[in-house]
Amino acid sequence: MTAPYSPPVITSELGRSGEASAARNSLSHGLRTTHTDRIEGVSVEGLVEKFGSPLFVFSERVLRDSARRARKAFESVYPNTVFAWSYKTNYLGAICNVLHEEGWIAEVVSDFEYQKARRAGIPGRSIIYNGPHKPRHSLERALSEGAVVQIDNWDELGLIEAIVAERAEPVNVGIRIWVDTGLAPVWSKFGFALGNGEARRAAQRIISNPRLKLHTLHSHIGTYILDPKAYAVTADRILALRDHIEAQTDHLVPCINLGGGFPSNSVLHGLPDYSVPSIEAYAAAIAGVLNKLPRARRPQLRLESGRHLVDEAGWLITSVVAVKGADRAGATDLSAVNAKASLVLGEHARGGYVVDAGINLLYTAAWYRIGVTPARASNLPPNAVRLYGCLCMNIDVIRESVDLPPLEVEDRLVLHPVGAYNVTQSMQFIAFRPAVVLIGVDGRAEVIRKREELVDVESCEMVPTRLVRRESSL
Ligand SMILES: *Cc1c(COP(=O)(O)O)cnc(C)c1O
Repeated sequence: MTAPYSPPVITSELGRSGEASAARNSLSHGLRTTHTDRIEGVSVEGLVEKFGSPLFVFSERVLRDSARRARKAFESVYPNTVFAWSYKTNYLGAICNVLHEEGWIAEVVSDFEYQKARRAGIPGRSIIYNGPHKPRHSLERALSEGAVVQIDNWDELGLIEAIVAERAEPVNVGIRIWVDTGLAPVWSKFGFALGNGEARRAAQRIISNPRLKLHTLHSHIGTYILDPKAYAVTADRILALRDHIEAQTDHLVPCINLGGGFPSNSVLHGLPDYSVPSIEAYAAAIAGVLNKLPRARRPQLRLESGRHLVDEAGWLITSVVAVKGADRAGATDLSAVNAKASLVLGEHARGGYVVDAGINLLYTAAWYRIGVTPARASNLPPNAVRLYGCLCMNIDVIRESVDLPPLEVEDRLVLHPVGAYNVTQSMQFIAFRPAVVLIGVDGRAEVIRKREELVDVESCEMVPTRLVRRESSL
């Protein structure tokens, strides 16, 4: 029998990328694809045996390393920096506590997150409270507990003025400001506009109120910002506003907060080859602006990083449950089947795999080309296949095209990086959300969120008495 011939396949994904992915092309050198049989030294198969599939896996070491590197990057060029952990990026208690142990305070964007941080034992003074909707009761609590509330809009400012009207002691507040740095898209949904003087007017109104102290000028320009210069531009504009406010009111705002938005090493769909700048490059860009000030005028710098710290610390293990798109009678080589079928059906002919996780667990798959590697080594040539999730929705595709060697049902795939946003944005839709484990620095894997069961999902449901089924009439 002759070996099946695999024609060179230029996938649409490979076509968009350059040399980096050419190295992944089976025809460029050898026939090997990389595989991931271990995460932090722990066997993928062993993890699935013990905790089930799919399974989120986090590494405490990676998380601590990225936190320490970020701290060093900023403190070595700008010592007066305070780091806040963006809860919404991943608010599992164990993950937050690792960062709190590393000295990160909490940055929350809703009443729910505020409650979560307080329940974790974080004092109000170590919470930064952002977000476009902070209910009155939540503002009352946060202001009385000493959190810095970063005011988003005029209505919220009015509400805060009403809440503090009876107070004897003034409270610290900040304002969120949106800045056009020249990068698109401009995030104009949040905060007061810098460009038309709105932020200046809000600052003046706060300073003229004896019960409010303007503590922070804040701007979070977006997420996954690939150009460190955007932060330099923002810092520069915010400092100019600070000077202006001081000239008019004599109040020198003590703190500026440049939000989060530093990228992880995940890759956006549809962008040509690019490299992600290091965290040190962002620190240099920001410090370069702040350090121009005379020492006594330098503000405290606050940062609210999320994605950058946790994305690489998270993996998702998923299992193949079906092989699609090829009549596999006797054919283990999907590419040979695909090559013929694609002449007739084009893109739709592409073979694929259905796995036991879907976009309900991988919301970020819409924006990022999540990395996929098989857990088992293979010498067979990789083919471009589609990776389908397990939801009953046609749009549930994790990767439109990814090069994988032929796989069988029960083969495991390891998806990475997925540590940012996927757990917090996961949806409970037709399936139980999976367990999450944390591999400690000692290499021990422990459950930090158990796999959901029917009782968890139904625990908030109420069936009116008249609808309680007593006997089966069906
Ligand atoms: C989401 C968010 C962050 C964190 O953003 P990343 O891009 O994950 O670093 C920081 N600040 C605010 C106000 C946010 O909404």
